[in-house]
Amino acid sequence: MPDTIFHKILRREIPADIVYEDEHLIAFRDIAPQAPVHVLFVPKRDYATLNDVPEEDAVVIGRLATAAARYAKAQGVAESGYRIVMNCNQDAGQTVFQIHLHLLAGAPLGRFGTPA
Ligand code: AMP
Repeated sequence: MPDTIFHKILRREIPADIVYEDEHLIAFRDIAPQAPVHVLFVPKRDYATLNDVPEEDAVVIGRLATAAARYAKAQGVAESGYRIVMNCNQDAGQTVFQIHLHLLAGAPLGRFGTPA
């Protein structure tokens, strides 16, 4: 059974600043925020990386994205703008191997995607 820190948050074994939850996903503030708004959207189904999500489960990713957009609207940052990011494996710097969508907002964001 996968057992990342996010699974422990899902099971309420460790605390998190949870901002949203439904039957499909949970959202909580990132512990090391990179923007004024930095929230992680995590599905309740287990997928280590985006590579592990089969075509028939595409709705899982769609739910993460639409939940992030709803949250951005509720926080009043949808019009000013935001970024959603999903890191996959080593070169992207993925550190927690349960998929999660980062929502970053609340200030102008730097450019991205340049090699380290
Ligand atoms: P990634 O590098 O895409 O795998 O993102 C993992 C994110 O999880 C990082 O931005 C971390 O700051 C964040 N993180 C790690 N542990 C926790 C935690 N206990 N609560 C909230 N966020 C966490």
